[in-house]
Amino acid sequence: MPILRLAIPSPLRRPFDYLPPAGMSAEEVSRLRPGQRVRVPFGRRELTAYLLDTCADSELPAETLKHALAILDPQPLLPPSLLRLCQWAARYYHHPIGEVLNAAFPQPLRAGNPHRPSGCPGWRLSSRGLGLPEGALARSPRQAQALAMLQAAAAVDAEDFKQRGISTAVLRSLETKQLVERCHLEAAPTPGCSRTALQPSGEQATVLAALLATPAEFSCHLLEGVTGSGKTEIYLRLIERCLQDGRQALVLIPEIGLTPQTLARFTQRFDASIVVLHSGLGATERYRAWERARDGSAHIVIGTRSAVFTPLLKPGLIIVDEEHDASYKQQDGFRYSARDVAVKRGQIEACQVVLGSATPSLESIHNALAGRYQLHRLRQRAGGAVLPAIKTLDVRRRELVAGLSPELVDAVENTLRAGQQVLLFLNRRGYAPTLQCHDCGWVAECGACDARLTVHRRPLRLRCHHCGAGQTLPASCPQCRGQRLLTAGLGTEQSEDFLRQRFAEWPVWRVDSDSMQGREAMGELVREVNRGQAGILLGTQMLTKGHHFPAVSLVAVIDADALLFSADFRGEERMAQLLTQVAGRAGREGQAGEVILQTHYPDHPALQAMLVSDYATQARAMLSQRQAAGMPPCGHLLVLRTDCSDPRHGEDFLRTLRARAEPALPETASLIGPLPSPLQRRAGKFRFQLISLAADRAAAQASATVLVTTAESMRARRDLKWSVDIDPQDLF
Ligand code: ADP
Ligand code: ZN
Ligand code: ZN
Repeated sequence: MPILRLAIPSPLRRPFDYLPPAGMSAEEVSRLRPGQRVRVPFGRRELTAYLLDTCADSELPAETLKHALAILDPQPLLPPSLLRLCQWAARYYHHPIGEVLNAAFPQPLRAGNPHRPSGCPGWRLSSRGLGLPEGALARSPRQAQALAMLQAAAAVDAEDFKQRGISTAVLRSLETKQLVERCHLEAAPTPGCSRTALQPSGEQATVLAALLATPAEFSCHLLEGVTGSGKTEIYLRLIERCLQDGRQALVLIPEIGLTPQTLARFTQRFDASIVVLHSGLGATERYRAWERARDGSAHIVIGTRSAVFTPLLKPGLIIVDEEHDASYKQQDGFRYSARDVAVKRGQIEACQVVLGSATPSLESIHNALAGRYQLHRLRQRAGGAVLPAIKTLDVRRRELVAGLSPELVDAVENTLRAGQQVLLFLNRRGYAPTLQCHDCGWVAECGACDARLTVHRRPLRLRCHHCGAGQTLPASCPQCRGQRLLTAGLGTEQSEDFLRQRFAEWPVWRVDSDSMQGREAMGELVREVNRGQAGILLGTQMLTKGHHFPAVSLVAVIDADALLFSADFRGEERMAQLLTQVAGRAGREGQAGEVILQTHYPDHPALQAMLVSDYATQARAMLSQRQAAGMPPCGHLLVLRTDCSDPRHGEDFLRTLRARAEPALPETASLIGPLPSPLQRRAGKFRFQLISLAADRAAAQASATVLVTTAESMRARRDLKWSVDIDPQDLF
């Protein structure tokens, strides 16, 4: 009797054997192909599994095997190359293959729904709709909403409009205004190219010539171009070639918030069918976009991290924009790096991979210097813009109001009076990070984490930024009944209050994850800001990621000190990236920009480095420090973490694991720990980690295999969870 060897989304790192569905002939079984979905009974549930293989017999006695219930697809939905990619990722990240395959399928298919080929009527923006007249639709919220949906998703299914309460009549009136047009989402028109390409600068032309000269097979490129150097223009040209070759381009961006901007630039340039894939879309919308990528009717696929697993009929080019961004690494469950998976995918599917950033990761610079990636550099800003001048502002003994020194307040005022925009960076949301009793010193702490609660004003609440728990503000001190509860420290809400009052004539746009809720919020904000009126942008890291704000001429970091003393080994790299990216928002068009870093430590070497050398130079210096320390990318890390409600169990588990695994480890790998994680208690669980550092990738993989198989063979208490993280971003 033939056996189906299946991948099942479960924590167990092994395939599962099943008998074919009852009544299926051996002949039919022999025609099954890897990747086909199979419905199976699993424990008391039914699950969607994926066929890995069929084989003659099982190691398990036949009478213990269950029958699969049904074969769900007549053909595998994933191309063999993507299946190989998933298998590689499962091995490399030591993650169960069933869960990895789940990442490659959209939710409705994971749930076992029948596969539905694409093809339904929809709407898209017309060329007139792309260059929207300002405020034209302010009086018609429904029409404005429909337009916002189209701006966020290229083309939208008629059905999706209905689901959001937008009638066909609304769309018809937009059609009458020639802002939208009907389209057929399954239609794969030959993509047209190049409306208004820019004349490449000398540098751009050199880089393009090198990139276009590489043959249509695997090669990986690092595009290291300063902020505003015109990397997007390079991407567009490469995509153009890819489309002309009849192939599809996959473009990864780090954040949903960048979708509208990216999409706008792509739709302006190409008369092609573009789909976007990110977690802000509903399950059916995502499924449809996935299907169009898979059947080849989408020419360009833009997506965040998980889009790296989107099947493509004819892959030709993979671009990873802002490749240094930490959000490419998934931090829970299947802990993969979308950037690294993208490179592997390029290898398997024989296509060009381009990693772009103004502040590349040390990993990518290391690979480029070692000759594994081709390095292309853009050292100048495009279109005649110049890089901003950076200076520190010593705030010691200065009177600070909401974190701003008098000098900074003046600089803001002068910029606004000159009709320009200011960007203020403060990487802490909420009103204040601490609530303290002035009488006895009590501090509001999270009951479930080793962390303080953050005070939020709108709405008024204490919130834990680690576990999400919230509570109302106490009326008096729970310890001494004192009435004087004071906030300490500074968050964006507080600076916003001050700025609104001090600069009442100008708009203040606050950008953080609290103020930017909803999938259209960021796109709307960017459009409003980019109308160009003077005003203040105030926000967290969200603001720094690749956004293009041409009218910003002054950038200030309110509290540069907060970035200085990170315990993590990547702290310095992160800081240099962040400051360079923030600074890079200034002076992107025409006027020269200025960057002010407020600090109590003007002599700190990391800040000094920002003043005297560019990121590229700093990065190469940091790389030699990592080399000396044997740390990534020159050494290879993995972390085994436990989390458990009893702190002793987690530590004991790792201690035993270490004792058992150590004799079998390769010589060039060493273990550190168990150690408590820096934030030891989180959401009521105590966390420990065991770290392995290896000199080369082979030793790191061997070490991972030993640790994972040993951990799997150990009996752990019920509430103890362990996980493995290969190439971790942080040791936390
Ligand atoms: P990056 O992605 O490198 O930060 P962008 O691609 O966003 O830079 O380009 C920055 C600005 O320079 C954009 O406004 C873009 O239109 C402009 N730009 C890019 N290339 C050229 C060029 N060759 N000539 C004129 N302007 C250009
Ligand atoms: Zn008190
Ligand atoms: Zn908490």
